[in-house]
Amino acid sequence: MNCDEFVELVTAFLDNALDPETEARFVEHLALCEGCERYLEQFRTTISELGRLPPETLSPATRDTLLSAFHDWHTT
Ligand SMILES: [Zn+2]
Repeated sequence: MNCDEFVELVTAFLDNALDPETEARFVEHLALCEGCERYLEQFRTTISELGRLPPETLSPATRDTLLSAFHDWHTT
């Protein structure tokens, strides 16, 4: 699993919607990649600020905001 795939699956992970094999790969990447660990924390914080888990997918605007934040710190 790479970081882009991780980002794509974060919502499903938090919604317990991953199949066991995918979840294992997700957790494995989480353990190996400090950046994605921080991203997941940031994502959880955002969700708690929103007060609820978003439905299956985030709105495009919210998703773009999170993805750009992710890429900003991930590439510096
Ligand atoms: Zn990563």
